[in-house]
Amino acid sequence: MQAPGHLREQARAIFSGEDKEHPPCQDCGGVHARACPRIRSVHTMINDQGIVVSREVTYWPPGQWEHHCIFWDDINDADD
Ligand SMILES: [Zn+2]
Repeated sequence: MQAPGHLREQARAIFSGEDKEHPPCQDCGGVHARACPRIRSVHTMINDQGIVVSREVTYWPPGQWEHHCIFWDDINDADD
C-alpha cells in the first residue's frame, strides 16, 4: 500500500503531464490509491472482445463520501 506522500508525488506527476500512463480517475477527476470512493455502485457491460460497451455509475451524494485520500489538480497551487 502506498504512503500518502508517495501518492501526492504521483498526483503531481500525473497532473503536470510527466506521468501519462496513469490518467486521473474518470469519476472524481482525482488521483487515489484504491477504488474510487465517490462511486456508490458501478455496472459495466463488456462485449465479446472485452471492450466496455456500457458503464453505469451511481455516485454518493456530495458530502457523503471521503475526500481525504484523493489528490486533485489544485495541489499544484499549494507548491508555488
Ligand atoms: Zn475517483
